[in-house]
Amino acid sequence: MDMRFSPEELAFRDEVREFIASNYPQELKGGARRSRGEMSKEDILRWHRILYKKGWIVPHWPVEYGGTGWTITQRYIWNEENARAETSPLLPFGLSMVGPVIYTFGNEEQKKRFLPGILSGDDWWCQGYSEPGSGSDLASLRTKAVRAKSEKDGDHYIVNGGKTWTTLAQFADWMFCLVRTDPNAKAQEGISFLLIDMKTPGITVRPIITMDGAHEVNEVFLEDVKVPVENLIGEENKGWTYAKFLLGNERSGIAGVARSKKAIERLKNIANAELIDGAPLMKTDEFSRKVAELEIDLSALEVTELRTLAAESKGRGPGPEASILKIKGTEIQQRITELAVEAVGNYAMVQAPRMEATGNEFVPGPDYSTGTAQDYFNMRKTSIYGGSNEIQHNIIAKMVLGL
Ligand SMILES: Cc1cc2nc3c(=O)[nH]c(=O)nc-3n(C[C@H](O)[C@H](O)[C@H](O)COP(=O)(O)OP(=O)(O)OC[C@H]3O[C@@H](n4cnc5c(N)ncnc54)[C@H](O)[C@@H]3O)c2cc1C
Repeated sequence: MDMRFSPEELAFRDEVREFIASNYPQELKGGARRSRGEMSKEDILRWHRILYKKGWIVPHWPVEYGGTGWTITQRYIWNEENARAETSPLLPFGLSMVGPVIYTFGNEEQKKRFLPGILSGDDWWCQGYSEPGSGSDLASLRTKAVRAKSEKDGDHYIVNGGKTWTTLAQFADWMFCLVRTDPNAKAQEGISFLLIDMKTPGITVRPIITMDGAHEVNEVFLEDVKVPVENLIGEENKGWTYAKFLLGNERSGIAGVARSKKAIERLKNIANAELIDGAPLMKTDEFSRKVAELEIDLSALEVTELRTLAAESKGRGPGPEASILKIKGTEIQQRITELAVEAVGNYAMVQAPRMEATGNEFVPGPDYSTGTAQDYFNMRKTSIYGGSNEIQHNIIAKMVLGL
């Protein structure tokens, strides 16, 4: 595996770097460190719309649907440069989740109807998979869809049930949703994949405020919601196949190596500014050892990611390695926020947006400490979502170790 960039790749890197420097909105600087639960819909979409205009919104899609045709190395460079500039991450729900499902399994009408809105950002999607009691054991989901026909509504499904932890559903125009269409079949065989317009009567979205104080997730209640049969993806009762395809994509992007590199750089700056008995915290044996351990683990993860990228470029899918990337990547992301809290101590509790909201102009502590505890709490989610880390360990045990 040759890990050096070619002269063409270096030129591409410079082009990307220059584009980000000239086009990423100044007001959103540091967007990568802001919780989405505290950003407006328009702020979350701004970078998306700029990239759409440039034609760089879906480098990972086939060219015929709007992809850039970049090599895997170019995509790697693209991710690195975005992390380096700390741009706000793009939302995955349309671009990396339902979009690929639609162009892979959808019919021509569905591609025409839905792909343009995903690319432009005009349609905001949310993911309706999890339900109370059906998270890790997703196939036990109970939201049911019954097929019906009427003169007024034509062929449609009537959907009843509820979804939970639905990220940013408060802004969503559409939800891709797993529903049970055959209650008598084996759990995985009676599920279908429906696209639901969030404006349909019978849908109620209620906020869940998480322990970082943000409104990032929701409960979604569905009561006699009418969904036209045209919004069924693929075949009825084959939804599990499409759902698994989507989850594989979700996991492979989850390692976050480039962004963790940047976060460690930031952590080191904090630890160099924080003084213990007049000397930088970063110079103490204990703290510098913890940072060194993190860096070593991140380097190992990066090599693992590069190995999977190299395999992908030869046409081999991410496979169970995606589970290794997910576990190690999220553990590292969490450890970085733990060390940041350790570094800034009590000032970690300061949350600038909330202090401004109460009219308090004085923000105690150095700038870099603001929101540190909030980040720490927010990042607890990473080992739960995208398939919890315990479930990923089970996958590795079965698929890699053959246990
Ligand atoms: C911030 C956040 C955002 C999310 N966004 C979305 C979203 O947009 N859409 C969506 O559909 N879902 C979303 N989820 C839900 C997420 O996918 C589930 O939380 C996750 O799958 C775990 O399911 P659960 O919460 O029901 O926990 P459970 O499945 O009840 O698990 C509870 C605990 O038991 C462990 N466990 C369960 N089964 C096993 C087993 N077989 N072996 C070992 N350990 C096990 C788990 O690892 C976990 O620690 C989100 C979750 C979070 C936290």
